[in-house]
Amino acid sequence: MRSHAVLAVALTLVFSALVSYDCLAQEEQEPAVVSALSGKVPSDAVVLFDGTGLSEWAGAEGGPVSWTVADGAMTVNKGAIVSRKEFGDMQLHLEFCTPSPPRGEGQDRGNSGVYIQRNYEVQILDSYDSKTYVDGMCGAIYKISPPLVNACRPPGAWQVYDIVFRAPQLDSQGEVIKKAVVTVLHNGVLVQDHVEVVPTGGRTGTAETARGSIFLQDHNHPVKFRNIWVREL
Ligand code: MG
Repeated sequence: MRSHAVLAVALTLVFSALVSYDCLAQEEQEPAVVSALSGKVPSDAVVLFDGTGLSEWAGAEGGPVSWTVADGAMTVNKGAIVSRKEFGDMQLHLEFCTPSPPRGEGQDRGNSGVYIQRNYEVQILDSYDSKTYVDGMCGAIYKISPPLVNACRPPGAWQVYDIVFRAPQLDSQGEVIKKAVVTVLHNGVLVQDHVEVVPTGGRTGTAETARGSIFLQDHNHPVKFRNIWVREL
């Protein structure tokens, strides 16, 4: 009995020492400094579009980029585009503007989309005063998850997506062992909260990967984009 008691005390002491060492180690790990001035791109971000050129983008089918650039914005034109760089876990910021005056209804009104890793579509749509199926409206993960609320601004107004993406985890055979997870703020309002995703329908069968490009959809509507940047996590 006595030796058990001694052993218990010894183990308790070792455990507390380990815990305090762990706390100390965490305290000593200083977070990196990121300059994040109001209205500016964070200092550790990769800028994909600053309003001046399309050098970070390629045609989604391998051809040239036909999108037009004017007044600090780029406009959808003749085909989807993809980022030349590939990303895994990331924070993605982009701003978009649906056409004004609006034309069409439902899915045929200000439609584009951000496909993370070319696979998971965060829908862009004019859902300000126009109805469609809820998992296809603006702020939806297309056909997977409706937005928690409708935070749309009117057509012609600039809007913001801030997206946190956790890439899928794959085993050595390329099988997904942990699904990708997406969180979306639309105009600063939480619309997707840590949602597990699979590739958007029509892309089923597309291999999921640890890293991939950002794909911006051409849905035949002149949606505009500006201020696109990524912070790798
Ligand atoms: Mg779309």
